[in-house]
Amino acid sequence: MRLILANPRGFCAGVRMAIDVVDQILDVFEGEPIYVYHEIVHNRHVVDRFRDRGVSFVEDVDDVPEGAIVVFSAHGISPAVREQARARNLTAIDATCPLVTKVHSEAVRYARQGYQILLVGHKNHQEVIGTSGEAPGRTLVVESPEDIPGLAIEDPERLVYLTQTTLSTDDAGVIIDALKEAFPAIKAPPSEDICYATTNRQEAVRQIAPECDLVLVVGSKNSSNSVRLTEIAQTAGTRARLLDDAGELDPSWFVGIDRVLVTAGASAPEDLVAGICRTLVQRFGATIEQRDVFDEKVEFGLPITLKREMKGKGIDPESRRVRVEAPVITEALYGAVPLTVSAGDADA
Ligand code: SF4
Repeated sequence: MRLILANPRGFCAGVRMAIDVVDQILDVFEGEPIYVYHEIVHNRHVVDRFRDRGVSFVEDVDDVPEGAIVVFSAHGISPAVREQARARNLTAIDATCPLVTKVHSEAVRYARQGYQILLVGHKNHQEVIGTSGEAPGRTLVVESPEDIPGLAIEDPERLVYLTQTTLSTDDAGVIIDALKEAFPAIKAPPSEDICYATTNRQEAVRQIAPECDLVLVVGSKNSSNSVRLTEIAQTAGTRARLLDDAGELDPSWFVGIDRVLVTAGASAPEDLVAGICRTLVQRFGATIEQRDVFDEKVEFGLPITLKREMKGKGIDPESRRVRVEAPVITEALYGAVPLTVSAGDADA
């Protein structure tokens, strides 16, 4: 069996920053109770690991004791939640991904200019709830082309569409085309809302999946971008499984299977990918080839509020910068595996 490991896979810059925020807070506010509003990122293992270190996750800011420390997750929050935190006198540290904040800013700006916003995304996803909250009276969520006839449009000449950052680029394209057909004057966002990490991971799967018999996507069921990766693989004609860790590997998946693409959603830690590969190497004598499709160099700094808290405690935030590097197949994580590295086609 041959495992083809997609690169890029796993952690994006926003997820690394959000995880780093909680890590730093555990250090800076040592011994104090730390609360995170919503899962910091949509990955069961990341959340459980923080829970084991004493972090409490809440779905309502009113569950955070007055005056305590609260972290807002990478998916972003509505202004109403921010106000709720202020009213409870919480020390709020915002770990929203800057690329989500960009979509929030667009929503605010277009709403101020009198546009009605058609937000393409999943209604119940935390990010869409947060973005809609920036202009609640001016935003309509569009999940599929079937929603379009039922939209309560005020002025078809004053419309803009925005998108959730983690959609399938294919699905979003279909919805956007349908919006343009229904409302020819609709405005597009100034730059693409679907983020670089989502686009790159999907493109790598689109490129490699057709030469494989099976695609394994490491990620949690509530991770939008991970679920999208399985859909992209299936659209490419290759069976795909979404799994959290090696414990979910089912031997029946591998009967008659020779080539397996392994990738991971933007919130899935590399050690879980490695655990799956190690298991497949042990069980099936698999070899590993890493396929480098895109080189990602994006990195985000820590939030200003956290930097301020760090400085107040005599810690230089610059000494704790989050660095994003491509996943490296180390012997410590993967064991001594037969490995080759090859280049994919970044222009495909
Ligand atoms: S998937 Fe994209 S938008 Fe979401 S946290 Fe990562 S970089 Fe930010």
